[in-house]
Amino acid sequence: MDTATWDIIVVGGGHAGIEAAVAGARLGARTLLLTHDPREIGRMPCNPAVGGLGKGHLVREIDVLGGVMGRVIDRTGIQFRLLNRRKGAAVRSPRAQADKQAYQDAMAELVAAVPGLTVLAGDAADLRVEPARDGGTPRIAGVTLADGRELRARRVILCTGTFLRGLMHTGEASRPGGREGAAAARHLSDALRRLGFTLARLKTGTPPRLHRDTIDTSRLQEQAGDEPPPAFSHFTATPPRNRVVCWLTHTTERTHAIIRDNLRRSPLYGGIIEGTGPRYCPSIEDKVVRFADRTRHHVFLEPEGIDTEEVYVNGVSTSLPADVQEAVIHSIPGLEQARLLRHGYAVEYDSVPSWQVDTTLETRRVRGLYLAGQILGTSGYEEAAAQGLWAGIQAARSLAGKEPVRLRRDQAYLGVLVDDLVTKEITEPYRMFTSRAEYRLSLRCDNAAERLLETSREIGLLADEDLAMLTLMVNMARAYRNVLSIKKLQELLVARGSGEQDDSGIIPALLEKIGRPDPADAVAPSLHGTPLFPALVRAAREQALHDVRYAGYIRKHERLLKEQAHLDELAIPPDFPYEEYPQLSYESRQKLARIRPATLGQAARIDGVRAGDLTLLSVLVRRWRHERAS
Ligand SMILES: Cc1cc2nc3c(=O)[nH]c(=O)nc-3n(C[C@H](O)[C@H](O)[C@H](O)COP(=O)(O)OP(=O)(O)OC[C@H]3O[C@@H](n4cnc5c(N)ncnc54)[C@H](O)[C@@H]3O)c2cc1C
Repeated sequence: MDTATWDIIVVGGGHAGIEAAVAGARLGARTLLLTHDPREIGRMPCNPAVGGLGKGHLVREIDVLGGVMGRVIDRTGIQFRLLNRRKGAAVRSPRAQADKQAYQDAMAELVAAVPGLTVLAGDAADLRVEPARDGGTPRIAGVTLADGRELRARRVILCTGTFLRGLMHTGEASRPGGREGAAAARHLSDALRRLGFTLARLKTGTPPRLHRDTIDTSRLQEQAGDEPPPAFSHFTATPPRNRVVCWLTHTTERTHAIIRDNLRRSPLYGGIIEGTGPRYCPSIEDKVVRFADRTRHHVFLEPEGIDTEEVYVNGVSTSLPADVQEAVIHSIPGLEQARLLRHGYAVEYDSVPSWQVDTTLETRRVRGLYLAGQILGTSGYEEAAAQGLWAGIQAARSLAGKEPVRLRRDQAYLGVLVDDLVTKEITEPYRMFTSRAEYRLSLRCDNAAERLLETSREIGLLADEDLAMLTLMVNMARAYRNVLSIKKLQELLVARGSGEQDDSGIIPALLEKIGRPDPADAVAPSLHGTPLFPALVRAAREQALHDVRYAGYIRKHERLLKEQAHLDELAIPPDFPYEEYPQLSYESRQKLARIRPATLGQAARIDGVRAGDLTLLSVLVRRWRHERAS
């Protein structure tokens, strides 16, 4: 391995690390992906599923911005569904069950094929930092490995997931580890602490896996995929295929009694686990305690692949002792004889609370050092991938001397994610939901291309032909939108008596009404023959329909945005001395000085900053700027 300076070193071969490294290299940076075990690149340590509410939206956005997750899941998924099909388009989202091994293999293959990207096995133990000459912020200079090797780099992106001082728990037994079968990262936490970072302890958990042939599916409810299977990627020409069915069963009162009787043996309730877990993805023991009046909880049985007998037991994440897990599983209808191939466990790990990064995910304490994924306090593959992509793009741009790209909350779920990370106090693993987006009627899966086309063009990750296809789709959607007057739509909806219901039946009728000329006809005939073309036309038509349907709400959003825009226009200098202004309330001063918002709008979104302080702050910032300039 040559010891020259790398442009970017990405630490971690999970979803955040892959997107960061691929983006960095494709944008021209000489990139090293450093990870414990390259054979584990792209591994899905929990449920091998991608998408879901809010998360599917993120994958669609990753796809438009040039990330890889959507393309890979379309190739390796084995069951595809569109969640909330019967609800409004804004909350519909694709979800797919992956063939876990095929997904991992496809990711590894993709990483290996990216020019300018090198993979290295090693354990990052320390960070090399150069003190700033002028007494300012120190700058990253590289990574030191546990075996003593020194790697120099101009940018470092840490994507270490659940590995920092990882501690796994099953019942009373605890053992160090980043996840099942993998050692923890023992040294990097100390390195971060020495650099002055604040660390927090979080936890997450996973359920047992069962042998497929020992499940009695005759008594269970079958869950088939949707037809036609919805693709994630805008560039998937061959529609994905549903290849398996899943099954639904429930916990019973006996399950709950077993759990209650054994709570003292749970590391969660026995006081062994200190880390905070995700409230929205609770363990089965948490569910039984918190929802004591519920007599049953859903349990989804999801195959982990075509060539594996392992079945994921969605809904029964647990760290109870192995013997209790066996009893719990056997108390569930259809699982009386089920054989456990692997037991569930919880993992505790160190994270770096996200107020320590700015909106590019670069740390404020060490310039050139970026964080992405579970290390920043999030949970989930999609959230990790989105941040990895973002950090990779920003690191590559800063190397090229380009301005950071920005995404607002009304533009993308990725904008919401980053803004939440920077401004909110994240005290438990953060996962994306549609409810986190106040402009969700505008942030739909179907219009991701139109929302992000210009940003994607600016970033430059998509191949020219992909960008041309997206441009075509967006132009067609605009053309359809013009054809579809709101009046026409309203007439049709009134005639059909349809409110917010499923509108899939209306689409053909509407298209009938649109009549000719068809905007697709205006497209160069050479494009008509391309395999993607029919899907693009369909997508553009559907998007236009939803745009028109939501036009009233979207106009309301736009008014609201205009009212708030002036807040985002006032930039706050990064060195503004909050502590020198006792006029600001103590709590606001503390929060502002810690988070250092880039604009007044961002300051307004920080939990605990008082409305009265914002008006004052706008005056103080202007005055301070004026005094400094004079
Ligand atoms: C037990 C368990 C349960 C989970 N449950 C859920 C859930 O219920 N819902 C959900 O949405 N998500 C869950 N997840 C989380 C999901 O797996 C992660 O959010 C996602 O994988 C995070 O991606 P990442 O890229 O940040 O990190 P990871 O996928 O954890 O990858 C980290 C990578 O960094 C490497 N690495 C770490 N430290 C070093 C170092 N010092 N040097 C070199 N390489 C290093 C590791 O080897 C690994 O390749 C769970 C994960 C686990 C392990």
